[in-house]
Amino acid sequence: MSKLLQLHDFGAPGATSFDELRKSAASSGCSSKGGAGKTGCGSAAGPSDLPPEIWEKVKNHPCYSEQAHHHFARMHVAVAPACNIQCNYCNRKYDCANESRPGVVSEKLTPEQAARKVVAVASTIPQMTVLGIAGPGDALANPAKTFKTFELVTETAPDIKLCLSTNGLMLPDYVEQIAAMKVDHVTITINMIDPEVGAKIYPWIFYNHRRYTGVEASKILSERQLLGLEMLVARGILVKVNSVMIPGINDQHLIEVNKAVKSRGAFLHNIMPLISEAEHGTAFGLAGQRGPTAQELKTLQDACEGEMNMMRHCRQCRADAVGLLGEDRSAEFTTEKVMAMDVEYDLAARQAYQAKVEAERDAIAVAKQRELEKLEGETATIKIQVAIATKGGGVINEHFGHAHEFQIYEVSTAGAKFVGHRRVDLYCEGGYASETGIDPILQALNDCTAVLVAKIGMCPKDSLAGAGIEAVETYAFEYIEQSVIAYFKDYLERVGKSEIRHVARGDATIRQGAFTEA
Ligand code: SF4
Repeated sequence: MSKLLQLHDFGAPGATSFDELRKSAASSGCSSKGGAGKTGCGSAAGPSDLPPEIWEKVKNHPCYSEQAHHHFARMHVAVAPACNIQCNYCNRKYDCANESRPGVVSEKLTPEQAARKVVAVASTIPQMTVLGIAGPGDALANPAKTFKTFELVTETAPDIKLCLSTNGLMLPDYVEQIAAMKVDHVTITINMIDPEVGAKIYPWIFYNHRRYTGVEASKILSERQLLGLEMLVARGILVKVNSVMIPGINDQHLIEVNKAVKSRGAFLHNIMPLISEAEHGTAFGLAGQRGPTAQELKTLQDACEGEMNMMRHCRQCRADAVGLLGEDRSAEFTTEKVMAMDVEYDLAARQAYQAKVEAERDAIAVAKQRELEKLEGETATIKIQVAIATKGGGVINEHFGHAHEFQIYEVSTAGAKFVGHRRVDLYCEGGYASETGIDPILQALNDCTAVLVAKIGMCPKDSLAGAGIEAVETYAFEYIEQSVIAYFKDYLERVGKSEIRHVARGDATIRQGAFTEA
């Protein structure tokens, strides 16, 4: 048995230079040719950017398409409690940090319970299109439960996309079964390709009836992960690679990971911030290892962005999450409630909803393009970030005080791009300002020039103005990207007329953990 590594065992990581990351990105020549990961793919891609067969796979998958995440929901079922490796950012007494907030999974389910829950959710939420198995342990350390669940769901709800997340250790052994079950999307968490780096993240793995530790453990893990990735790509399965950004441990190294997974045909790379608090009881949390700031994360994501876009809309969901990304409706679907529900699987209603979304998505794209054309001939090099209050649907439809999170868009003359989200505590609770007040929200939005909302009170508006952030209600209930571009055009005009002065914003704080109502 090996002890958990402590921070002082990790060696001197050296200072992280984000200028170096930028340079590296410029020279990395990202490519994701071959296999399923064709060029031009990524979470922001639309139908004109992707081969039709790939677009069919991603168009209503909220994690694989940034556009889809405004409209479609996913659910995870917690049927996989066991794990075969130990990560220093995970404490399974709570939950798996690979894909979820380190909080308690409310209930572990049998495959039969999980299948009933899927049908119950799909009957209630027609926009739920994806079932994922993401722990709380590892999907492939629990293969019987994972595949039985998929089998039962396929029988009753064949239109639901199947997804699984794995640490990759057992992946090569199950690729054939994954392909046979028509699981089209697989996520592998790959935090390193250098076992020396891995030894600082993974104290042990359990493989072939043996426990391995240190560099040897990480060497086996890395080889199995990359082999599994190649095997999936060869079978046309879309692979998303998740990497946890751990400052001072693997932040610079993730550039190498990015190159390695792109060259093997991964479809999408999702670099997520470390979730690390002492109360989670993880080795990193107890050792005081910090997570990245908003700008550190964005700089690394920008450095890795190339032909294969980065996923930036991941919410690091719980292993039993239900709903749109950014919301959690799992409390509505406890086993007790699901068993008491009248469940009827209405395929026609689901298809009607999806057709409506297609039409809405087309309208959003047209509106965005029209607005962008108004910037033609504009030569300003200014780039700003704008925060959005939204309940979903691609529309600015949330009051400032009711927002659990803000979506962040970067905008320049090149257009508007989703670059992240910031989770916050509600500002308004029952008509009064919350106890935490506005300061944490100001810190979360500190890198933004403006926040576009459906409505906002005078008090928070003044506080935002005092922090240099403009609160704007002009675009209430309008499409997000069109509005962001329109705001930017107006901003440039005001700067041009010297009505306002363009000021570079600072860094912002990433709030730990995913949103949960539980
Ligand atoms: S953890 Fe990330 S990738 Fe997984 S369902 Fe949530 S948003 Fe999607």
